[in-house]
Amino acid sequence: MAVVGGGYVGLWSALLCARAGQAVTVVSDRPWPLRDRDRSRGSDVLPSAANAGMVFPLWLDFDNVWERYGQADAVALCRASDAAVEEVRAFAELQGCPWRGVEHLLVATHPRQFALWQVLLDSLAWGGEGAVFRRVTADESQERLGAPFGAGLAFGNCATVDPHALLGALRDACLEAGVEIVEAHAREVAAVDDGVEIVGEDDRLAAGHAVLALGGRAAGSSALARHLRAEFTWIGVWEGVGAEVRPAPDDLACVSALDEQMHYLRRLEDGALLVGGSGPPRRPDEPSDEVRDGLRRLFPALVDRPPRTLYSGLIEVSEGLLPLVGSLHPRLHYASGLSGMGIASSRLLAGIVAERAGEQEEELGALACVDEHELEADRVDLA
Ligand SMILES: Cc1cc2nc3c(=O)[nH]c(=O)nc-3n(C[C@H](O)[C@H](O)[C@H](O)COP(=O)(O)OP(=O)(O)OC[C@H]3O[C@@H](n4cnc5c(N)ncnc54)[C@H](O)[C@@H]3O)c2cc1C
Repeated sequence: MAVVGGGYVGLWSALLCARAGQAVTVVSDRPWPLRDRDRSRGSDVLPSAANAGMVFPLWLDFDNVWERYGQADAVALCRASDAAVEEVRAFAELQGCPWRGVEHLLVATHPRQFALWQVLLDSLAWGGEGAVFRRVTADESQERLGAPFGAGLAFGNCATVDPHALLGALRDACLEAGVEIVEAHAREVAAVDDGVEIVGEDDRLAAGHAVLALGGRAAGSSALARHLRAEFTWIGVWEGVGAEVRPAPDDLACVSALDEQMHYLRRLEDGALLVGGSGPPRRPDEPSDEVRDGLRRLFPALVDRPPRTLYSGLIEVSEGLLPLVGSLHPRLHYASGLSGMGIASSRLLAGIVAERAGEQEEELGALACVDEHELEADRVDLA
């Protein structure tokens, strides 16, 4: 089997297939160890190595999945994503990757947000899953975060992890399982008589099956572009921010404030504060005006303080906002559309990929993230 892409999706897929007895080669055009550029500053990070490290299952999408696929499918997908969190936890702990179970807070920066979450809460209550979220009052969010956030939700089965350590552990586990990892850019993947061919700059690789695990660059490939768009998301890390900005290190809470400015906030293990949001790549030392405004309102202490690092990377978002796994051809599979929630979802998609590429009976094959679009192609140009 050949996997194009050495991020979480590619490496999880490779690992599961290799453990099932297949010979696997991963083709990835990102060098390892990562160059400084990929780890610290700039606008071209490798998302699997440099994300915010917040792990969550898919319950936030419950109402969206219900609307499209029905209640039973929504429950099945969200429960499968809970199991994926558990799989990642077990792996991280076995490999010695720092993993911290936390309660994830979702707090409003605008009253309209809470109205949207009410739909989610109602759907969950109606579906018998009302215990997934706990309501958080504005007082509690302000007390825990030290900033003027509104009311929100809290949910368990979440965690934080060191993303770079997790990717490194996945690479090590792949190598240990006999996976070959080749550093090369793939230009094209094509189905041929009884298998597939990966066409590189100077070389070709033949395999029985191929898996496209391209991350944000999937949106630039000919066959997948119709169903995915790529967006930038950024992270800034500030040092020396004390108790004037919570969460304090021993009161770690993950915070999502789903407005234009901010999606992530958490304390890192070294005490630095990580803030992240959506938006275009910026000069590494200069937050955008929008970011500055958001910070001024929520965390004035950060406004004139230069971040230790500020970088952005691509995430890919599907039409239905769901992670997607499918096949363009019986031997050519793809796994994409993680919408910035890739740490747990990548494990879920990889389980489905491994069943397909291993031509095994599909236990997970009926989940709503299995793409029913008739995407047919026997040749794919890659970005
Ligand atoms: C700033 C930021 C913060 C984030 N925060 C979180 C978070 O807190 N929690 C969370 O769950 N998710 C988060 N995410 C999302 C998460 O990082 C991604 O969903 C996940 O890493 C995607 O994994 P992937 O394997 O699909 O893609 P990637 O990590 O993008 O890997 C894609 C791989 O494909 C390779 N590739 C692509 N095209 C080719 C080609 N033609 N030839 C050879 N190789 C190719 C690349 O070299 C790379 O190795 C964040 C993302 C960003 C950018």
